[in-house]
Amino acid sequence: MSDGDCLFCKIVAGDISADVVLETDSTVAFRDVNPKAPMHVLVIPKRHIATINDLSAGDEHLIGDLFLVAAKIADDEGFADDGYRVVMNCNAAAGQTVFHIHLHLLGGRSLGWPPG
Ligand code: AMP
Repeated sequence: MSDGDCLFCKIVAGDISADVVLETDSTVAFRDVNPKAPMHVLVIPKRHIATINDLSAGDEHLIGDLFLVAAKIADDEGFADDGYRVVMNCNAAAGQTVFHIHLHLLGGRSLGWPPG
């Protein structure tokens, strides 16, 4: 299921270009257009899900897929041992701006904690 108004659904459909790093049956991973770290990849489900609040029972496997893809990319790009961060923002207070869930994968620099 996709949403015709959703930017990331358009990337999944190929209607908007993206620097795709990895694609699986259920996910697409592409480089963030405004990277916050030397490696900044977004891992998204192909299916439109607006926010974490919209997840349902049955989505457990799909969410696991996002993490497995992130871990593979971190390893492929050489950040597995040094460390990296994955984070998903939910709604306005967390800074979500694109309402199609996406796992941010960040690496290649020291990352402060807690995040701002
Ligand atoms: P969030 O603020 O958590 O919703 O993150 C949305 C992310 O999508 C931001 O880091 C943006 O830089 C990124 N972004 C927006 N448009 C694009 C695009 N067309 N291609 C790649 N990344 C994008």
